[in-house]
Amino acid sequence: MPLQSTEAIVIGGHNLGEADRIIPFFTRRLGKVRAVAKGARRVRSRFGGTLELFTLGQLVFFEWPNRTLHAINEFSVIEPFSPLKEELGRLSSGAYLVELAGAAVEDEEPNEEIFILLRDALTLLVSHDDPRLLRTFEIRLLRIAGYLLELYRCLICRTALRQTDGLAVSPSRGGLVCPNCRPRVQDSLAIASEPVKYLRLVLPGALRDSLAIPLAPPHIGGLEEILKVCIAYFLGKNLRSASFLSRFQRGI
Ligand SMILES: [Zn+2]
Repeated sequence: MPLQSTEAIVIGGHNLGEADRIIPFFTRRLGKVRAVAKGARRVRSRFGGTLELFTLGQLVFFEWPNRTLHAINEFSVIEPFSPLKEELGRLSSGAYLVELAGAAVEDEEPNEEIFILLRDALTLLVSHDDPRLLRTFEIRLLRIAGYLLELYRCLICRTALRQTDGLAVSPSRGGLVCPNCRPRVQDSLAIASEPVKYLRLVLPGALRDSLAIPLAPPHIGGLEEILKVCIAYFLGKNLRSASFLSRFQRGI
């Protein structure tokens, strides 16, 4: 039974039996890993309150060969991201980030780029509960996970898109189509010029840059709707926390 050690972020958790918890982690080296915290709900548990949502720590676990559920040996906290748990807006945004990151990969499929993206996004979310951060996280995640968001050429006629007016996004094809080709694309969604320019600027830069580039709230909302369809297409399902987040934002 090999012992593994890796940085890991707690992305969920549910009770098992009388005293245990099952914790899913997004780990740096081994992708998404699920492991049992024995006795985690006992008053004098050796895990204390360490296995809370969003916590980044060093995870040591016993790896059970040919099984998808392992056993936590130790979890030492590096960063608890406590402010994310103290306010409902940040909590729902953070819950959306961890669920989306978890949904983008299969169990135990290593993806260090997504781990770093998630860690950096949670770090920024502590001080910036800004919808532009969520939108940039989404497009980065899609790109890392292999969904090509083509922003510079029409996906149908391959013409370079120098003008950004009258364009549309095709979620099934993963990118932009020009005004001429748009009538031939069944799933095309109109996109305004400003979100196209925003996407082009934030996709190659640092995550923090997304907060320095202005985008008016109506365009952030328009981009959110488009990315929601792209993500649903890519993942083949709707995320639970995404619907909660949009209800929360609309005040329902
Ligand atoms: Zn075209």
